[in-house]
Amino acid sequence: MAKRDYYEILGIDKNADQAEIKKAYRKLAIKYHPDKNKDDKAAEDKFKEASEAYEVLSDPEKKQRYDQYGHAGVENMFSNGGFSWNDFTHTSEFSDIFGDGFNSIFDIFFGRGSREGSGGRSRVHRGEDLQITMPLTLKEIAKGAEKTLKVTIKDSCEACDGTGSEDKKMNTCSQCRGSGQVRQMQRSIFGNMTTVVTCPSCRGEGKTISKKCPKCSGQGRVNIKKSVTVQIPAGVSEGQYIRLSGKGNRGLRGGPYGYLIIIIHEKEDDLFQRDGSHLILEYPISFSQAALGCKILVPTLTGKVKMTIPPGTQYGKEFRIANQGLPVVNSSSKGHLYVKVRVVTPTKLSSKEKELLEQLAEFDEARQLKPGKSFLNKLKEFFAV
Ligand SMILES: [Zn+2]
Ligand SMILES: [Zn+2]
Repeated sequence: MAKRDYYEILGIDKNADQAEIKKAYRKLAIKYHPDKNKDDKAAEDKFKEASEAYEVLSDPEKKQRYDQYGHAGVENMFSNGGFSWNDFTHTSEFSDIFGDGFNSIFDIFFGRGSREGSGGRSRVHRGEDLQITMPLTLKEIAKGAEKTLKVTIKDSCEACDGTGSEDKKMNTCSQCRGSGQVRQMQRSIFGNMTTVVTCPSCRGEGKTISKKCPKCSGQGRVNIKKSVTVQIPAGVSEGQYIRLSGKGNRGLRGGPYGYLIIIIHEKEDDLFQRDGSHLILEYPISFSQAALGCKILVPTLTGKVKMTIPPGTQYGKEFRIANQGLPVVNSSSKGHLYVKVRVVTPTKLSSKEKELLEQLAEFDEARQLKPGKSFLNKLKEFFAV
């Protein structure tokens, strides 16, 4: 498939300034954000495509090469001859665009594994992100919760102070003199180009060790059990997650910590069904209650409320109890509780009940509760060929 023009992807013209480029990307990022397009591969691809275009056009050097040579001019500026999320340098802007705290599950793609620092710094291995699923009841979700979790993470090895070296010493790599990178000359149709690649002898770390620490096999980290306390805001829903920075695995040989990602799982409730921030409760009442009206006690997530069922209530009728639903995350508003009336037909009748119902049936006849004329006409039309 031919690659689309970056300006076309962002829907801007070639003279667009940086503010316009950013604005255009922002718009697309919000549109194709995977939270709004769950399991939609096409949207995910669009999001990535727009991010690639933004990566190039927001960088004056890459933009100039692209303007001059097209896609061929920038391809080898990406790590694997093509754009991947590791090449994306604007992930920090996401919290700006999507809001903090709650991010799409998709963000987990970013910041996983090791990232090379920009500006020729030696490579640090950021620790892996860890994911934990947290089951919560609707009651917990209604109030918000503080939870303490036991997690096993990789943390600094005490025997070697996290260096991975038995004598705790790290030597500057002789091949790259500690920069973690070496220069390579490459011939291309654009002339000679110097590219910077990861130093093969220290794998970009800039340092080497003479003897590996036996306790951690040179990794500088070991498994450790820890308790982590996390605040769950009220109103969260299935699949949302909270990302705790610095609570994931420690990186190799003193690298920074990854994230601990807590994914919300909503336990099914026996009484309530959830619809966004609203709750639905099916409430069974008897035929006589429906016909005569009654007062019922409705359970809520925080207690109970009295409700009046008016006389003549039909099956399936919904009553709204305002503000007894779930809180909306990061807002003071609340959803409603909808009470859906279910009229229960008795199955076992005593002779007395039977007698009374038979008396009632006579009234039904008089009230023509049997299928009326218009209903019979509709049936006729339905069966007519
Ligand atoms: Zn060690
Ligand atoms: Zn090196």
